[in-house]
Amino acid sequence: MGSGITCAGCGIELQTENSSRAGYAPAQALEKETVICRRCFRLKHYNEVQDVHLTDDDFLKILNELSSRDALIVKIVDIFDFSGSWLDGIQRFSGSNDVLLVGNKSDLLPKSVRKSKVVNWMKRQAKEFGLKPAETLLMSAQTGDGVEETAAWIDKLRKGKDVYVVGATNTGKSSFINQLIRRFSDGESPVDITTSNIPGTTLDRIDIPLDETSTLYDTPGIINRHQIAHLLNKEDLKTISPKKEIKQLIHQLNPGQTLYFGGLARMDFVKGNPGSFVVNMSNELPVHRTKLENADQLYEKHAGGMLAPPTGKETAFPAFKKSSWKLPAVKTDLVISGLGWITVHAPGAEVMLHVPEGVQVSMRESIY
Ligand code: GDP
Repeated sequence: MGSGITCAGCGIELQTENSSRAGYAPAQALEKETVICRRCFRLKHYNEVQDVHLTDDDFLKILNELSSRDALIVKIVDIFDFSGSWLDGIQRFSGSNDVLLVGNKSDLLPKSVRKSKVVNWMKRQAKEFGLKPAETLLMSAQTGDGVEETAAWIDKLRKGKDVYVVGATNTGKSSFINQLIRRFSDGESPVDITTSNIPGTTLDRIDIPLDETSTLYDTPGIINRHQIAHLLNKEDLKTISPKKEIKQLIHQLNPGQTLYFGGLARMDFVKGNPGSFVVNMSNELPVHRTKLENADQLYEKHAGGMLAPPTGKETAFPAFKKSSWKLPAVKTDLVISGLGWITVHAPGAEVMLHVPEGVQVSMRESIY
């Protein structure tokens, strides 16, 4: 419910109920003469952009707006959850504008993997999704690696035009913009809160002046409901989100064996010749190997204990849903959105994945 009072920074109607939604301000702040929303507050005082969550409709309005602009679109994806953070429809909504595709969180990739290999893989994936980016880059908004190169490409490709940064929530969009603000600001208050409303919506945006005539716009992110993250409490979410380079766990499996990923997902090797299964997930997530014939029992006995997360505090954790996959001759990734992936090299193998209902699973060309 709106308060009828608007933010003096960005003009959005303020609300006091949901701190992750746009226009949030604490109730006591509304008693002041001039009130700004928490997002503007943090930007003003800490030079820090916070993401707000939008409904799908709101987000579609923003995307629609992009196609009518003459601008460079910087699309951030999470390299750890490429398809889950892709943003369907971006190819249509970008119109005739150039898109700079940036894969973030490169620090999570094993050091032994060549960056150029991952970039080429990103290009092929983008093509499959129907997008031909003007340039494709990898960076880490956390370590700063590749941030300056990305900034240089933005400058080169924008040809004096405005820039829109788009991305699903949790891709690291705010971290990236914060890096830009820190690196490229020269004064004490580098960022003007010159936030303007998008016609037809009541959404706030952060505008960062690039030069006299053009601006970088941060667009709010959209929540991806197919990710496992939305089913978990904060602690469990921490466990499954890798914070540093992923150490791959290699399992040589025979048919009739099962892997449990905590109690969050399970993979049965049903049929085929022995093969290699490499787990690319947070190293804090315990992986248990068992016999397929004992797998159900193990879960009944140990879910929430040895097989955790989830740690069992959720009242409504959805039941597992099965899907079966036949592996091709080449190395292939089985992806569980938000959790990671298993690289399988077992030509012709038949595998069953069990994931909580609603969580997306997919098969793709191996990333490395
Ligand atoms: P936003 O929702 O897209 O604005 O994403 P945030 O900037 O809030 O980041 C989402 C989460 O990803 C946070 O926990 C960040 O610490 C983390 N994160 C952001 N960038 C990186 C990165 O380059 N590497 C890693 N490992 N984590 C990152």
